[in-house]
Amino acid sequence: MTGSTYITDFKTDRGYELKLNTGLFINNEFVGGDSQIETINPATGKVIAKVEAAGEKEVNAAVDAAEKAFEEVWSKVTPQKRRDYMLKLASLIDRDHEELSQIESLDNGKGISLSRGFDVRELSECIRYYAGWTDKIHGKVIETEGVLSYTRHEPIGVCGAIIPWNFPLLMFAWKLAPALATGNCVVIKTSEMTPLSALKVASLVKEAEFPPGVVNIITGYGHTTGDLLARHKKVGKIAFTGSTAVGRLVMKAAAESNLKKVTLELGGKSPNIIFDDADLELAIKWSFRGVFFNHGQTCCAGTRIYVQEGIYDKFLEKFKAHTQNTPIGHPHDESTFQGPQISQTQYDRIMGYIDSGKEEGATVALGGKRWGNEGYYVEPTIFTDVKEDMKIMKEEIFGPVACVTKFKDEEEAIRLANDSNYGLASAIFSESNKRCIEVSKRIKAGTVWVNCVNVLHANTPFGGFKESGIGRENGEYALDNYTQVKVVKMATTMSP
Ligand code: NAD
Ligand code: MN
Repeated sequence: MTGSTYITDFKTDRGYELKLNTGLFINNEFVGGDSQIETINPATGKVIAKVEAAGEKEVNAAVDAAEKAFEEVWSKVTPQKRRDYMLKLASLIDRDHEELSQIESLDNGKGISLSRGFDVRELSECIRYYAGWTDKIHGKVIETEGVLSYTRHEPIGVCGAIIPWNFPLLMFAWKLAPALATGNCVVIKTSEMTPLSALKVASLVKEAEFPPGVVNIITGYGHTTGDLLARHKKVGKIAFTGSTAVGRLVMKAAAESNLKKVTLELGGKSPNIIFDDADLELAIKWSFRGVFFNHGQTCCAGTRIYVQEGIYDKFLEKFKAHTQNTPIGHPHDESTFQGPQISQTQYDRIMGYIDSGKEEGATVALGGKRWGNEGYYVEPTIFTDVKEDMKIMKEEIFGPVACVTKFKDEEEAIRLANDSNYGLASAIFSESNKRCIEVSKRIKAGTVWVNCVNVLHANTPFGGFKESGIGRENGEYALDNYTQVKVVKMATTMSP
């Protein structure tokens, strides 16, 4: 089954018309799966469209297509040509920027201004950044007596990726771009919650005339399609972003199959430390962004806010006032900062955490309830009187819930910040450079933001300490995930 079989028409709630091929994208064709998945509009709870789900046969077909494309075509394409394909794709993404933004907001529920200004912009930015690496990947010549030794950084071949729903296009880019730049072919499984935007990119991959099989995009549930990909013997590397629980399963599947290379970008419970010498107004605005950006569905969200005693009351009062004014609304309204959570399940989980916070004796200083009467909206919520060992302080909530508490001095702040199984990110607010530099050294996290939060760039590394993950995405660092080193040793003067 090929071609136009799966063309689906739909509209956003504000009437933007969309037409999409909802088949599985294998070998540059849209094909059928073994079943279908309904994707939901989180602003209304209604079905947007049905997409095809990949079963064993389709996962095998996607991996075979990638393997064949790698062996027969892609491994012979010059780096400069790879760069050109990637740049072409980035240009087509820019051309269809508005359509992609509309799809992202419809399927995920994030505000349209966020989709436009962040997700879709960073998608093409990331692809362009890695396009620039294609012809800069090289090994070393190592002086060895009687032998010429040099290294080659070779592609792995077929790389699999399993991505989440919180930043569907951005996570897609973070996996796709470094894999292609280093000369690999890919099979990417999108989240069952947000399959639509990547399918639009699939049509652009085809339009950019990538050789068939270089990029394959499949949809399906995690325990079926995702597990099949993580276990596939012909997949040499798997990159995963999502929950720590599923990260463990992916690593186990890799261990039980072919010991494929694994990189994991998992959850977080990031500390945000505000010292009494901070610029308070700035700290409040950033802290708000740190926790409530993307409705709190951000792995690096600064959810544990530690404020130094002397400024605690003032901070809390102003932070509450600022948060009270959160523009909540329909994803397709220009002014919306906060839209609905992704699903009923996530809504229930978040509400469960809010209840547990109350039961354990924390105080709801703001919010704590459903917002509106349609969709999966949760009021921006601030907890105070939070103790170190409470569930809401320990576990990733993945919703618009902040825990604010106080600390005495630098030592206590560092101890509290590091008291977590996670170590994805952190933030420090202080006007003292010396303090920022010294405290940064002692925080156990992959990112330390100083006087800002949630600032990401395609050219800087991102990833976690501790149970927040393995490996780094973005920047030059990510190239290692997608290459393997070979040493070639040629005898010159050496004799047996
Ligand atoms: P998840 O980890 O279940 O899903 C992420 C991806 O993994 C999806 O594509 C899913 O289909 C796939 N998957 C699920 N089970 C799998 C399996 N057994 N084998 C292979 N792939 C599998 O995340 P979720 O259920 O959508 O969200 C649950 C929690 O995960 C959230 O509350 C949040 O704490 C966390 N999360 C973190 C991130 C992040 O960026 N770090 C993103 C999404 C969710
Ligand atoms: Mn959806």
